[in-house]
Amino acid sequence: MSINKQVLVTGGAGFIGSHLIDRLIADGTDVLCVDNFYTGTKPNIYHLANNVHFELIRHDVTFPLYVEVDAIFNLACPASPVHYQHDPIQTTKTSVHGAINLLGLAKRLKCPILQASTSEVYGDPKVNPQREDYWGNVNPIGPRSCYDEGKRCAETLFFDYHRQTGLDVKVARIFNTYGPRMHPNDGRVVSNFIVQALKGEPITLFGDGMQTRSFCYVSDLVEAIVRFMAAGPGCHGPMNLGNPVEITIRELAERIVEMTGSQSEIVYRPLPQDDPMQRRPDISLAKRELDWAPAVPLEEGLSKTISYFDGLLSGPDAGLAQ
Ligand code: NAD
Ligand code: UDP
Ligand code: UDP
Repeated sequence: MSINKQVLVTGGAGFIGSHLIDRLIADGTDVLCVDNFYTGTKPNIYHLANNVHFELIRHDVTFPLYVEVDAIFNLACPASPVHYQHDPIQTTKTSVHGAINLLGLAKRLKCPILQASTSEVYGDPKVNPQREDYWGNVNPIGPRSCYDEGKRCAETLFFDYHRQTGLDVKVARIFNTYGPRMHPNDGRVVSNFIVQALKGEPITLFGDGMQTRSFCYVSDLVEAIVRFMAAGPGCHGPMNLGNPVEITIRELAERIVEMTGSQSEIVYRPLPQDDPMQRRPDISLAKRELDWAPAVPLEEGLSKTISYFDGLLSGPDAGLAQ
């Protein structure tokens, strides 16, 4: 991605953001990381502290930001249900006010801007797999709405800025992504199950475990995001980015128990309100426009993620997983 001299990544101290920054710097790009450390952590970016291509600003994107960059990746937003429901008003503000500020910045700079949107814009979908022309099935007033509707409103803003000001926007609808640097306590299913299995604690399966998800390894997702930004001003999306291999959450639990050699038993807990029953991306558009498809099989991605959490639980940052 060396077409850009200086790139802004908001949410750069988070799980996906920190991997994106590593990739951009490896490609020879200078990166300005903006984060308020709401869910992101310093250990995710420690290794970049002395890198001359890396700069960090602690800043909340709900407030205006005046910097000079050539492209913007807007990832700032808590992503796991536990985190985004902790302060739902702040979650909506981050999505909506954050989008307005970063779109205003992009408009002034006349630079491309990519939005990390989400499969959650489809809510509890009535069609499977989900294509980008499906409008979704979202509860506007439930516990997940701050995230789902905040991201939907951000998409509206991105396309209105595009139509009204000619801004080059790119809206990526990201499906469940996993890998090293997921926060061990963020309640997401992959991190929960692996940490529980490694500690020998019960694996908490919500509902009957027959709900499905499709899990994309983080390096595959980063590749897609980088290609989307490089795709030129005619390519706006919205574009599904994710792995179309769908599995039940029960099967995921069983695989993780097997792969870790854990003695943990599976225990059943109530299904949270509005928990989607199925989710699988149709990625035809990304294949066509970006010549992209995921390359890392679930087994390989899980094995790398298990190694990461194994190291974390026995290392100096083990406190993160208490
Ligand atoms: P994450 O929680 O690890 O990272 C989010 C980052 O944004 C954190 O570093 C956090 O501190 C920062 N942040 C939050 N609010 C902020 C604010 N007001 N100002 C500045 N920084 C702020 O989550 P992630 O999984 O890396 O997700 C990154 C983006 O991708 C998010 O926008 C998320 O909605 C989107 N996404 C993620 C997934 C997934 O499966 N991980 C799926 C769909 C969409
Ligand atoms: N903004 C910003 N940085 C900039 C330019 C704008 O943070 O370099 C913010 C500013 O808070 C503004 C918002 O983006 O309110 C939207 O900008 P826009 O130009 O679209 O609208 P206006 O300035 O008219 O509100
Ligand atoms: N889940 C679970 N046990 C957990 C955490 C999550 O069974 O400890 C389920 C959750 O109910 C959902 C699925 O796993 O059906 C994925 O949850 P996650 O929070 O990771 O992502 P999202 O629901 O946002 O896709």
